[in-house]
Amino acid sequence: MLIGVPREIKVHEYRVGLTPASVREVVAHGHEVIVERDAGRGIGAADDDYRRAGARIVDDAGALYAAAELIVKVKEPQPVERARLGAGQVLFAYLHLAPDPQQAKDLLASGVTAIAYETVSDADGGLPLLAPMSEVAGRMSVQAGAHCLEKEAGGRGLLLGGVPGVEPARVVILGGGVVGSNAALIALGMGAAVTIVDRSVAVLRRLGERFGPQLHTLHASTDAIEAAVLDADLVIGAVLVPGAAAPKLVTRDMVRRMRPGAVVVDVAIDQGGCFETSRPTTHADPTFVVDEVVHYCVANMPGAVARTSTLALNAATLPCVLALADKGWRQALRDDPHLARGLNICAGRVMHPGVAAALGVEP
Ligand code: NAD
Repeated sequence: MLIGVPREIKVHEYRVGLTPASVREVVAHGHEVIVERDAGRGIGAADDDYRRAGARIVDDAGALYAAAELIVKVKEPQPVERARLGAGQVLFAYLHLAPDPQQAKDLLASGVTAIAYETVSDADGGLPLLAPMSEVAGRMSVQAGAHCLEKEAGGRGLLLGGVPGVEPARVVILGGGVVGSNAALIALGMGAAVTIVDRSVAVLRRLGERFGPQLHTLHASTDAIEAAVLDADLVIGAVLVPGAAAPKLVTRDMVRRMRPGAVVVDVAIDQGGCFETSRPTTHADPTFVVDEVVHYCVANMPGAVARTSTLALNAATLPCVLALADKGWRQALRDDPHLARGLNICAGRVMHPGVAAALGVEP
């Protein structure tokens, strides 16, 4: 099969669909790979690295889209990219179609078979191609929060782990899933005093078993959240209700009563955020201040660590890419019901029930 890896053109997107190491695996399976010139530049992979892995470098994205049977990329296709897709082609990427009817309309019109990373499932009910980015964002959230606690960034002037004789900062994490548990790992590692809040006792039990008594766990009542947030130096928002907007667990009034110079990092901002005062920001201008509380609300945190994120993403996507290429998409999806959950659009129809419901069309 001929696989195409275009350069990402979305603003500030530095990741790439396949690394040179992944290309080598795909080529070893007998497939041909074409990579757009400079596609790997954002992660420090040169065109020569791709050539050594067995890829052919092409200058013209239009020619790449015209030739490839399977397009592997990271972000949803932009309008100019959508215009290049056609019937008989398979697109494998993050699509996030539910809030993007125009993209859905264009993909339906193109006739492309679109398989979305974010709806591929696993046997544990998880989303294995989304999880690596939550791991990255969770770990980054503590790094971002620690920086914001510094005086120059508007923070209280606290070192997260304290020093001997000085108590550490208090970190409260709302939501103990993939983002929250990764945030806890890093915050504990840096020596902070960490409390994690979740509505699921089963989740709290698992976290308790994993981290031991060093981690404080709290069941998510309004009372518990209010008390924890008012006492916190850094609050990390990491809740998710699948398919829904994030619940506003922290009200404007609670933010007003937080300590001056405290920091909130709202990782859940891509679902609207769980602080009433949140609004999305970018890596170019990541923070703003409300009632003397520093807010960091970057909606695509993993983009800042494009190399780590691409390697983590490829570790999860490569088996799927190989299955799609080796068997053809129809057989690959027949053999693997979890990969089949990724099918969003085929032959002008929305195939995923959740996406169809969100778009208000028949699946
Ligand atoms: P997850 O499903 O693994 O975990 C979410 C947790 O929230 C669950 O444990 C759930 O029990 C808990 N929860 C739900 N409602 C709650 C409530 N009312 N009170 C307390 N706990 C509640 O999800 P995840 O992978 O950790 O993702 C968390 C959020 O981070 C999502 O919105 C995801 O899209 C977002 N995210 C953002 C970025 C970014 O760059 N900003 C990157 C990756 C993920």
